[in-house]
Amino acid sequence: MSEKGTHLMGLPASEGISIGKAHVIDSPKVKVYYQYILDPQGVERELKRFERALEQTERHFKDLKNKYSEIFGNDAYLFGTYLMILKDKAIVENTIRIIEQEHVNAEWALKKSVESIRSVFQEIEDPYIRSRIEDIETVVERLLRTLSYDNDECMPNNLIQPATRRVIIVARELSPLDTTELDISKVMGFVTELGGRTGHTAIVAQSLEIPAVVGLPGVLKMVKDGDLLIVDGRTGEVIVNPTEGELEEYQEKQENYERLKATVTRKAHLPAVTTDGIRIRIKANIEFLEEVVSAKANGCEGIGLYRTEFLYLRNKSIPSEEELFEDYRQVVELLYPMPVTIRTLDIGGDKFANVPQLHKEMNPALGLRAIRLCLREREIFKSQLRAILRASAYGNVRVMFPMISGLEEVVEAKALLEEAKGELKAQGIPVSPDVKVGIMVEVPSSVTLADVLAGYVDFFSIGTNDLIQYTLAIDRVNELVADMYKPFHPAILRMIKYVVEVADQQGVELSLCGEMAGDRLCVPLLVGAGIKELSMNPGSIPIVKELIRTLNSEEERREFRRMLTMLTAEEIRDHLQKRLARWL
Ligand code: PEP
Ligand code: MG
Repeated sequence: MSEKGTHLMGLPASEGISIGKAHVIDSPKVKVYYQYILDPQGVERELKRFERALEQTERHFKDLKNKYSEIFGNDAYLFGTYLMILKDKAIVENTIRIIEQEHVNAEWALKKSVESIRSVFQEIEDPYIRSRIEDIETVVERLLRTLSYDNDECMPNNLIQPATRRVIIVARELSPLDTTELDISKVMGFVTELGGRTGHTAIVAQSLEIPAVVGLPGVLKMVKDGDLLIVDGRTGEVIVNPTEGELEEYQEKQENYERLKATVTRKAHLPAVTTDGIRIRIKANIEFLEEVVSAKANGCEGIGLYRTEFLYLRNKSIPSEEELFEDYRQVVELLYPMPVTIRTLDIGGDKFANVPQLHKEMNPALGLRAIRLCLREREIFKSQLRAILRASAYGNVRVMFPMISGLEEVVEAKALLEEAKGELKAQGIPVSPDVKVGIMVEVPSSVTLADVLAGYVDFFSIGTNDLIQYTLAIDRVNELVADMYKPFHPAILRMIKYVVEVADQQGVELSLCGEMAGDRLCVPLLVGAGIKELSMNPGSIPIVKELIRTLNSEEERREFRRMLTMLTAEEIRDHLQKRLARWL
């Protein structure tokens, strides 16, 4: 063995450590398709061929949906999404139109219609929504495969060679479809060249609890079939052909991780209480109704942030009050009696700047976003408020306004909420009598004015993702300045401290729902700052709860005071890293 294995760094996509042999799948993606010009009789034939492919693909997805609903649980909904995409007009009708008008083969027409959809998706700022193009690509890939075999009999069951022993799959990219065509019981890890943390390899790997590292360009060239690999899905590290020493080190890390995981999973449904008896409430952040199952399975104590943007983005038009109500009602009922904090629409600005109804702006992050947009587009806002209020009759609902920068916005938003309540009452539609109202504290001016705003709301939720962006003047989606985006910046610590003090003094409930809440390195700092409620991505809940159980709140308070005297983010980070080494 060489002195050191080859160390590669990708994006951590699914927690855990795997050590095993590589099984390289050189892109199962379909071959290149050429354009054929058809004679007039050929057009009719081609349309039939496309129709047949649609039917076969539909059958295929339905089979997979039935087969995999047990394994994937919550994520089997993906197959439902595929079935919907198969009926999408932008794909199907457009392809038919291209075949008819341009007299080209179905593969070519299909590729052409997808290209125009892809260019729309590429402009979407939000990485999660942008990555949903993968759903469309998966469906199209399957359609193309079906077209190239043309009938079920010729279609191989397994386009990816099944592994004979447990292996780590190394591939360019894996659609969930590819994953389902693998024998999952033989897979102990995934490494892919493409894909992001919110892509499908990540989602599927997480739901199957298989370690995964994605976004590792060139890995296919560096790894050969049968190479020994270490995959660390927590850090994104992949070691190819490790030395004996590296192997031993990671075997120990693997054992520690497995032990910790077994403990935290067993205790996911128990509360998070510090060693000196302080209870920290742990809630989940969700974007979709479908995530409720995972939030509950991971032991959430309610939804601390329901980001409601998705329904507005999925449809080409603004969703109706009825549609919103149905979605909110289901979330609220599924969580009952636990509370659900529904955040009103946070769209515009740097978030989803391509929404057609919105203007292009020079400085979108500072533009017409969130509450600012809602207070201009009052009908859209009122319809959402009515839907939230209607859902409140079915459980425990709280409403939260995003991006508040001053008192006028709170007053106006609350007045509209009251107006919506009055309308519903007049119509005899039931509304809960105690819907709590809160704001995101995520703009520096709302921190400075926290003492004033506290008099007008029931709760604050600190949104550190934006608070860091606006305080440090660092665009949160610009990779050129990503290294300057610093959660441990002394200015952020001081802001958190001030908001906690105001909330305590004025009896306003306080939580924190930015990414810091689910970051193990940040948790002791937040507990030390006196925060008693954290809301995070569901997958982080069990381990954060377990970490809290090892903390002494008094000690963390002392540590927090100490960190407040530190002058740079690096110093604070180093300090926390040393203290938390065993948790990282
Ligand atoms: C935040 O800004 O911290 C937050 C939780 O909201 P979002 O990430 O949706 O802007
Ligand atoms: Mg925000």
